[in-house]
Amino acid sequence: MSAKILDGKWVREQILAELRPRVAKLTASHRPPGLAVVLVGNDPASEIYVRGKTKACGDLGIYSEKITPPATISTGDLLGIIEGLNQRSEIDGILVQVPLPKQVDSRRVLLAVKPDKDVDGFHPMNVGSLVANIPAPRACTPAGIIELLRRYEIPIAGKKAVVIGRSDIVGKPIALLLLHQSATVTICHSKTSNLAEECRRADILVAAIGKPRLVTREFIRPGAVVIDVGQNRGPDGKGLVGDVDAEAALELASAYTPVPGGVGPLTIAMLMANTVAAAEQHLCCG
Ligand code: NAD
Repeated sequence: MSAKILDGKWVREQILAELRPRVAKLTASHRPPGLAVVLVGNDPASEIYVRGKTKACGDLGIYSEKITPPATISTGDLLGIIEGLNQRSEIDGILVQVPLPKQVDSRRVLLAVKPDKDVDGFHPMNVGSLVANIPAPRACTPAGIIELLRRYEIPIAGKKAVVIGRSDIVGKPIALLLLHQSATVTICHSKTSNLAEECRRADILVAAIGKPRLVTREFIRPGAVVIDVGQNRGPDGKGLVGDVDAEAALELASAYTPVPGGVGPLTIAMLMANTVAAAEQHLCCG
């Protein structure tokens, strides 16, 4: 078998194309959607991510603003910045780029973002809405994975899904989203015994671990759909390597998201989607 490649760039372009008329309508009738990105300090990886986000805004006609407090900022001062953004009516989404410096209480910062401006979907109120399957901003990477499965018409209902990873950003939300689509979901993690055996049950296997090529051929049931969320540095410190052994996935899976080019491109697209949806909600034309 040779797996069908699930092309994240193709899905991203579809999502962005569908957002354009919505942005145009908002801009013509009210104002463009607005996203504020708070980038504390000058972590090079975070700077690259933020550049990608502000560029996507520019391409779509979304107003974006970058706020760059110094790495030494206190929790109180950062909370002040967020409160200011919460108050501003032209800002629909607030994204605080993580990781934050050690002296900052990340939990308090996360809680300070107004839930209707939390375009990352990380606020506990939005996480509660996810658990209860109530509409609210969803975490971008997991929401992107569901979009990819939907647009490739990969059935989820009744399928056995196994998620490796239980992070708040990827593992837990994708498990819940798959559950809401009526998959039978197993969540595996670093303490799971017989990991390969658990994974071999999966019709849909999602790897969100952060360990290069941990998922080998013993993990993959022939014909499974394999979603590789991992974005790890290559052995030479350059390039991107997934959590899945690509050769094994290509040989055994029915469909597979490559790294790069699979899940990666979807995160920013879903951030844009969350920002436009927030603007529609704020401007009452959703
Ligand atoms: P994390 O470190 O917060 O969580 C990793 C999870 O993997 C943990 O729940 C842990 O229990 C599990 N794990 C670790 N070692 C394991 C092992 N040996 N066996 C089984 N489970 C194990 O990471 P995260 O933020 O969820 O990110 C996971 C990966 O996804 C990373 O490579 C990250 O770069 C990538 N990622 C990609 C995107 C994107 O494509 N846009 C977005 C977010 C994260």
